[in-house]
Amino acid sequence: MQKGQIRVQTENIFPIIKKFLYSDHEIFVRELVSNAVDATQKLKTLSSIGEAKGELGELRIDVIVDAKTKTLSIVDRGVGMTAEEVDKYINQVAFSGAEEFLDKYKDANIIGHFGLGFYSSFMVSDKVEIFTKSFRENTKGVFWSCDGSPEFELYEIDKEDRGTRIVMHINEESQEFLEPGRIRGILEKFCRFLPVAIYFKDA
Ligand code: ADP
Ligand code: MG
Repeated sequence: MQKGQIRVQTENIFPIIKKFLYSDHEIFVRELVSNAVDATQKLKTLSSIGEAKGELGELRIDVIVDAKTKTLSIVDRGVGMTAEEVDKYINQVAFSGAEEFLDKYKDANIIGHFGLGFYSSFMVSDKVEIFTKSFRENTKGVFWSCDGSPEFELYEIDKEDRGTRIVMHINEESQEFLEPGRIRGILEKFCRFLPVAIYFKDA
């Protein structure tokens, strides 16, 4: 098990993220679904050039609302991540001067261009967990968890299936995102015409 600090210049990522996204919280759905689509498309490409071996199985993305556990999950069967990749791509929120920039352009659409995409999940979550397993052979599953403070947890887990499950523990102010109708509406708005089938489930 590894414990460490997310490498971001500021103390806490919440203030930055909340500061300019107050009006447009729903874009986190688009950001996370986009990541799931990217991961799936990467896998297709790697498979076509022979780098990903074997059957890919059904490539789909599931969005699951669970009112009991107050979680919203996004599950893909894409490339997944190794522990090194989680450390590299998730733990390093490298956006130098982002705060200044955000002050200048308070436009939510800009967020994706910052690599802040994944972190937009913290606008609506008390805690975000990642369960992932890379398509690469001989890699273990990886669990990552963070409550929005710079501390994260990262350790290996047993995970059978390839791909990534992002579990958002929806915060008190954002309970609307546990309403199936609300999520369905957002998916219809932002997530139509994607190259991967998206299924919505109200657990
Ligand atoms: P961006 O998509 O602009 O690179 P994000 O913050 O949205 O920035 O994601 C950071 C990185 O984390 C991605 O580039 C990718 O490497 C990794 N990542 C995020 N979500 C997934 C996922 N579902 N599957 C595999 N890798 C992912
Ligand atoms: Mg992204």
